[in-house]
Amino acid sequence: MTTPTVLILLGPPGAGKGTQARILEEDFGLVQLSTGDLLRSAVASGSAAGQQARAVMEAGGLVSDEIVLAILKDRMNQPDVAKGIILDGFPRTDRQAADLDALLATSGQRVNAAISLEVDDEAMVGRVAGRYTCGGCGEGYHDTFKQPATAGVCDKCGGTAFKRRADDNAETVRERLKAYHAQTAPLITYYEGKGVLQRIDAMGDIAAIRQTLGGIVAGVSAH
Ligand code: ADP
Ligand code: ADP
Ligand code: ZN
Repeated sequence: MTTPTVLILLGPPGAGKGTQARILEEDFGLVQLSTGDLLRSAVASGSAAGQQARAVMEAGGLVSDEIVLAILKDRMNQPDVAKGIILDGFPRTDRQAADLDALLATSGQRVNAAISLEVDDEAMVGRVAGRYTCGGCGEGYHDTFKQPATAGVCDKCGGTAFKRRADDNAETVRERLKAYHAQTAPLITYYEGKGVLQRIDAMGDIAAIRQTLGGIVAGVSAH
């Protein structure tokens, strides 16, 4: 019997986690779990968790481990995750990493690979400031680096409504980069110690990174 593949994409805001996670969904039939997306849905729904998360997210800090773990566990209980998951933006703290290991262990699973997308911080400010997504399907775009083939029309769904995140401004990005280096970057060492870390240069173009990542994922996926 094969157990589902569990991949983690690590990297600061703008590193390309969401972009590559969506590509891996298509290429490998895995499911992207973005705690940022789950939290933004909670904020939009006005739930108690969303109300608590909102101000922290606007300021570029990290939402409490309790809230994030509860939201992630709910999502992991849904049946579509059976083939395997790509965790995008989770874990972000020691506690989240330890709880993830414990949660996976209850069903005989483990992290197959933690892939660190290595980038220059300064370039991330421009990547995040130029980011927008399709309101219909969530496909990600960039003012300079990834425009739709036909201006104003989503390549994936034909939608014409796009949105930008409230926290994607230069000031908040700098706060988020600080939070990344203080609380999340230490996880690189954690996964290195477990023998599952892979580092990739994520300053190249989207297609080149897709190639490198695809090779890694093919090597660790359940067959
Ligand atoms: P993250 O999920 O790590 O915060 P995204 O995948 O949302 O990052 O990418 C941030 C922005 O940069 C998006 O607008 C995306 O289109 C663009 N982008 C992603 N990867 C690259 C890349 N390799 N080169 C240039 N721009 C990129
Ligand atoms: P990015 O990929 O640009 O870093 P995300 O969409 O992953 O952005 O996260 C947006 C915000 O949501 C973060 O700045 C943080 O406030 C919150 N968040 C997302 N994931 C987590 C997490 N695992 N733990 C704590 N806060 C989180
Ligand atoms: Zn779309």
